[in-house]
Amino acid sequence: MQILLANPRGFCAGVYMAVDVVDQLLQLLPGEPLYVFHEIVHNRHVVGRFVDRGVSFVERVEDVPEGSIIVFSAHGVSPAVRHAARERGLRAVDASCPLVLKVHAEAIRYARKGFQILLIGHRNHQEVIGTSGEAPDSIQVVESPADIPGLRIHDPDKLVYLTQTTLSLDDAEVCIAALRRAFPSIQSPPASDICYATTNRQQTVRALAPRCDLVIVVGSANSSNSVRLTEIARSAGTPARLVDDSGGMDPSWFDGVARVLLTAGASAPEDLVLGILQRLIDDHGGAIEQHDVYREDIEFGLPASLKGLMRERGVDPDSRRIRRLDSDDSIAAWAAERSVQFSTVDLTVGGTR
Ligand code: SF4
Repeated sequence: MQILLANPRGFCAGVYMAVDVVDQLLQLLPGEPLYVFHEIVHNRHVVGRFVDRGVSFVERVEDVPEGSIIVFSAHGVSPAVRHAARERGLRAVDASCPLVLKVHAEAIRYARKGFQILLIGHRNHQEVIGTSGEAPDSIQVVESPADIPGLRIHDPDKLVYLTQTTLSLDDAEVCIAALRRAFPSIQSPPASDICYATTNRQQTVRALAPRCDLVIVVGSANSSNSVRLTEIARSAGTPARLVDDSGGMDPSWFDGVARVLLTAGASAPEDLVLGILQRLIDDHGGAIEQHDVYREDIEFGLPASLKGLMRERGVDPDSRRIRRLDSDDSIAAWAAERSVQFSTVDLTVGGTR
């Protein structure tokens, strides 16, 4: 079987940063209890591995003992959560992705100017809850065009839309077009809120899925961007399956499949991708072709709140940087160790984004 491996796939800069924040805290505070508000990223394995190392994940600030350290997850939190943590005397380390915080800042800015904000996204997603909390009286969530008739609009000339960072580009476009039809003078954000990692992974699947008989997406069911990748593959006409790991694959999926595309959502670790590759090679043999569509070299620094804690504990934050766990070379080395045929195909359509 021919295995096409999507590149980029898996961890984005925000996930590398958030995962590394928890990892560095565990090293900095050995034996001390560590709490994370909500799943640090939406991946069952990432969360399970931290639980095994003693991290507690909570959904309510009230569940954290006073004076403890609490990490805010990559999805961001509302000011109400920050306030509740302060009131409880918790020490907060903020691992919110800077690209999520950019949307928070836009929401605050437009609300201060008296705009009503239509936030396109999934109402119950942690990111949308956090962003909405920045200006709850000014923000209404729009999940689909069906929500438009129920909106309460005071002045159609003081209206702006923002979006969740991990939406499907296609679905967002449908929603934005419907909003423009309903409110022709609605303003758009200065730049798309859908982040570079979401965009690149979706465009890569859109380009490669039509050449394949099946698409496997590595990711958890509550990972918005992973689920979107399966939807994009299906809308390109190719069946798609979302799996947490190699144990989730059913041999019957591969009946009659000559070419499979393997990709991973932004919160899925590369070792899970390798586990699936191993299973595919064991069961079906064949060669791996990595298709490089976008180059990514975005990297975020350590959050200021973590740097402050490091200084207090006598660690120079300048001696630390976000550890990238994977590299382009690792997959080639992995294949070479197993004598698996591996090659790359340069389809780069976008430079560094
Ligand atoms: S998917 Fe985008 S917004 Fe979300 S953590 Fe990654 S880079 Fe940040």
